Formats: sequence, structure tokens, C-alpha cells
Amino acid sequence: MNIEEFYKLLQKKNYGSLFLKEPLKKYTTWRVGGPADLLYRPTKVGECADVLQLAWQHQIPVTILGVGSNVLVADQGLKGLVVLTEGFRQIVWQENLVTVGSGVLLSHLSRLAAEKGLAGLEFAAGIPGSLGGAVVMNAGAYGDSLEQVIVSVKSLDLEGKPKTYEKAELALGYRDSIFKRRKELIVEIKLALQRGNIAEIKAQMARCLNLRREKQPLEWPNAGSVFKNSGQGAGRLIEGVGAKGWRVGDAQISEKHANFIVNLGEAKASEIMTLIKEVQKAVKEKYNVDLETEVVLWGFVDNRR
Ligand SMILES: Cc1cc2nc3c(=O)[nH]c(=O)nc-3n(C[C@H](O)[C@H](O)[C@H](O)COP(=O)(O)OP(=O)(O)OC[C@H]3O[C@@H](n4cnc5c(N)ncnc54)[C@H](O)[C@@H]3O)c2cc1C
Repeated sequence: MNIEEFYKLLQKKNYGSLFLKEPLKKYTTWRVGGPADLLYRPTKVGECADVLQLAWQHQIPVTILGVGSNVLVADQGLKGLVVLTEGFRQIVWQENLVTVGSGVLLSHLSRLAAEKGLAGLEFAAGIPGSLGGAVVMNAGAYGDSLEQVIVSVKSLDLEGKPKTYEKAELALGYRDSIFKRRKELIVEIKLALQRGNIAEIKAQMARCLNLRREKQPLEWPNAGSVFKNSGQGAGRLIEGVGAKGWRVGDAQISEKHANFIVNLGEAKASEIMTLIKEVQKAVKEKYNVDLETEVVLWGFVDNRR
């Protein structure tokens, strides 16, 4: 079945919001990326499970997109179905536990938790990702990460079957989880927070936000840290090869933070990719270090350096 036929099948069943040839640059913080063959924005888990099952039966490839703050989508776009998770946005509080839809913004949740005097998400102030993306990446900052507060995760596998994972099964590590290797759609996350002092929680969040504003080029579209920090900070290595300010088209290694690549206007994914490869090559030559990308690369035929 081709994608138009699949689209018509979903339409006939009255399934959710569907968009053919939808430009993904609208859904990534870098503001780059070609079209998705078909974008689907579910709000109901049951319906989403049916759609995944149909995609599986008809061999339509599936990609899962949170708020696109950690992905580089190729200019050619993506084949198949892209499922956007932003419609999963329920939040249920139960004392110090909170159960959250995967489309909820991490920074929004951390603000709500602060208002309730619940500590544990202060580090997340200013991280622009969704809860689902934050689980996949085990998002973290300033020595803390989501790992410290996760209790369990509910997902749908690519056949649409529901699964539940306890924390110990998630293989959480530095910007890593089992979902990096096992493609499933996270729909719900349960977190355990701790009672704290509202003023102290807010003060800690303000400190995190100030550090970000001081150090990060937030005035331009970006995707946060491009490379993982190995033993030595990636930013320091990139600065060490004199790459700050390198520019290809409208893509530039930030002058403010060497581990950020900013979009100065109309950057293409290919230009960002060229910079990524040039930096990797220079760092390898000077320091014999292989810089690994933290951002997830989608739709590139050749991801080799
Ligand atoms: C200015 C800026 C600052 C940042 N600072 C930090 C920081 O301090 N620490 C940090 O860790 N990160 C940081 N990031 C990166 C990013 O915000 C996080 O990695 C975030 O958790 C990604 O969430 P997302 O919804 O944007 O995921 P996306 O970018 O949409 O996706 C990332 C990966 O997760 C998968 N995914 C997303 N949602 C789901 C889901 N529901 N189910 C299954 N798979 C899913 C995608 O398929 C993809 O593989 C920053 C980014 C920016 C732009």
C-alpha cells in the first residue's frame, strides 16, 4: 500500500488529525527539515494503537516526534508516517506522584511541580523537550536527570501493543535509554517527586534558567548540545580546534557556546550536517577523540564521517 492509500484508509476510519506532505521544519526547534509523507497527531491512545497496527500491517515506516528539540531532519524529509505526540497531554497528580502524557512539556511540568512544592524537576527548567523525548534521551542538566524521578513508563510497540516498563527495565544512562534501540511510542510516564520548599525550588529553577541565558545562544533556532560530552567537554574540544563561528550557509557554530549550532535564518539540514562532519574531523585530527552526536539524525543516507 502506498502512503496516499494509507492516508485514505485512515481518513475513512475518521482517525485524528492527518497531514500529507507536512513540512517538518514547523515541528523542530532548529526550524529545518523536509516534509513528512504523512503526519499524524493523535490524542487518544486507543486510536493511536490502531493506527500503529495498520501501519505495521501495511509496512509503512513509522517515526515518532516529540517537540523536535533534539533531532536533525534531512532536507528530503521522511518516508512513511510521522506520529506527533503533542496531543498526549494529561497530567494527574496523586500526592508526590504525577502521571503525565508523553506530549507534555518538561519545562511546563517542572513549573507546575514547583507551584505544588514538589522538588526533583528543577534541572528541567529551560529544557524545551516533551516528557516522551526526555525519557528516550534521559534528559538532564547540572548533574541531575530524569532518571532520578522516573517510576515507570507506558508505551505502544510498533504493532500497537501496550507495554509497561518499570524504571529498572529502562536501561537509563547518559542521554540513553532502552528506547534508543527499541522503537516504541511512549504514551505515559509516572514520576515520583519529593516534598520541598516552594521558594527554594523556584530559586533553584531560576539559577538554572539564568545559567542557560548566560551560556546558550537562545536568540537563534538551535537543538541544544549537538555532541555528547565524552570525558572532556565537547564544547572545549570544539573551541580547541578553533571552530567557533564556522559557518556553512546559514548554519553556524555558535560564537557563544561551541557545542551549539545555530540557524541564522534559512539554514538547511545539509549545511548543519556539513558543520557536524567538519567539527568531528577536526576534533579527531587534533585530539584523537570521536565526537558522537547527541542530536538524533533522521533521513540522512550517509551518516558516516
Ligand atoms: C535550547 C535547548 C536546550 C537543551 N538543553 C538540554 C539539556 O540541558 N539537557 C538535555 O538532556 N537536553 C537538552 N536539550 C535537548 C532536548 O530538549 C531533550 O533531549 C529533550 O528531552 C528532547 O525531547 P523532544 O520532545 O524534543 O524529542 P524529539 O527531539 O522530538 O525526539 C528525540 C528522540 O526521542 C524520540 N521520541 C520523542 N518522543 C517520543 C515518544 N513519546 N516515544 C518514543 N520516542 C520518542 C524521537 O523519536 C527521537 O529519537 C536542549 C534542547 C534545546 C533546543
